[in-house]
Amino acid sequence: MILDSIASTVQLANDVPMPWLGLGVFRTQEGEEVEQSIQWALDAGYRSIDTARIYANEVGVGRAIHRSGVPRTEVFVTTKVWNSDQGYASTLKAFDESLERLGMSYVDLYLIHWPVKGKFRDTWRALETLYAEGRARAIGVSNFLVSHLEELRVGASVVPMVNQVEFHPYLQQPALQDFCRKHGIRLEAWSPIMKGEAVSEPTLAAIGQRHGKNGAQVALRWILQKGVVAIPKSVKKNRIEANADIFDFELTPDEMHQIDGLDRHHRYGPDPDNFNF
Ligand code: NDP
Repeated sequence: MILDSIASTVQLANDVPMPWLGLGVFRTQEGEEVEQSIQWALDAGYRSIDTARIYANEVGVGRAIHRSGVPRTEVFVTTKVWNSDQGYASTLKAFDESLERLGMSYVDLYLIHWPVKGKFRDTWRALETLYAEGRARAIGVSNFLVSHLEELRVGASVVPMVNQVEFHPYLQQPALQDFCRKHGIRLEAWSPIMKGEAVSEPTLAAIGQRHGKNGAQVALRWILQKGVVAIPKSVKKNRIEANADIFDFELTPDEMHQIDGLDRHHRYGPDPDNFNF
C-alpha cells in the first residue's frame, strides 16, 4: 500500500484505480460554493469528488470539473441514487438525470445511497446494467451493514466494489471491515474527521503534536493506513489544503493501535438498520 502523495490510488476489485483521498460535498451549496471548493481541491491535487443526487449540487460539480482544465479522465467522480428513486427502471432514469446534470457521459463510481428495504436488490440490478454498459466504471453501495451485503449477494452477478459508510476513530465496525476485506469490497469513510471534531479529539491531537499535524490529519492518515478510502468535506481553502497534507508522515504501529482503542460505536449520522427517509 503506497500512500506517499495525494495522487496515490487503490485498485478496486475490477482494477479501476480510485484515489485514496477525495473531497466530499454534502451540504456544500450548489453554484459558487461548490464550484469554488472543487477548484481549490483540484489546485491542491485532489482528483476525486464525492457527490449525490440528494446533495443537489451535481450541476456545480460538473461545471467546476469542466472549467478547471483538468481532463475529465483524471478526475474520479462518484454520485449516488437517492432512496425515492430506488427500483430497476427508476434507478436507470435517475442515473440518466444525474449524468445530464453533471454534463458527463459516465461516472467513475455509482452507489446505492442507503439500503432501502425491499428495493435495494432491484436497484442493484440497475447498477449492474449501467456497469455492463460502461456508463459507471465501478458500482457499489453505501451504508450497507453485513446483513445488507449478505442479502444483496443473493442473485447478484457483480460484487459491490465499494461500500461507503460512516467510519472514523469513534466508529470502526471491525466485523464490517473483515467482511469487506474478505469479499474484495473497498471500504470508504464518510464523516472521516468526525464532522470537524477530530481536530481537537485529545488522543488524536496529542499524536498529531508529535508529527506537526492536527487531529483531523491524524484521523485521515489512520483511515488510509487501515486501507480505507476517505472523503473529508470542507468549503474553506485552508482546510481543503490541510486535509490533503497527510502524505508526508506515517503513524507508527503503536499509534495505530492507540487510535484503534478509541472505538466507541458512536454515530454522528443515522443508523443504517433504522432510518426513515
Ligand atoms: P466530515 O467528517 O468530512 O466533516 C465535515 C465538517 O468538518 C464540516 O462542517 C467542515 O466545515 C468541517 N471541517 C472540515 N475540515 C476541517 C478542518 N481541517 N478543521 C476543522 N473543521 C473542519 O463530515 P461529512 O459528513 O461532510 O462527510 C464527508 C463526506 O462524506 C460528505 O461531504 C459526503 O460527500 C460524504 N457523506 C456520505 C454519506 C452517505 O450516506 N453516503 C453521509 C454523510 C457524508 P467547513 O466546510 O466549514 O470547513
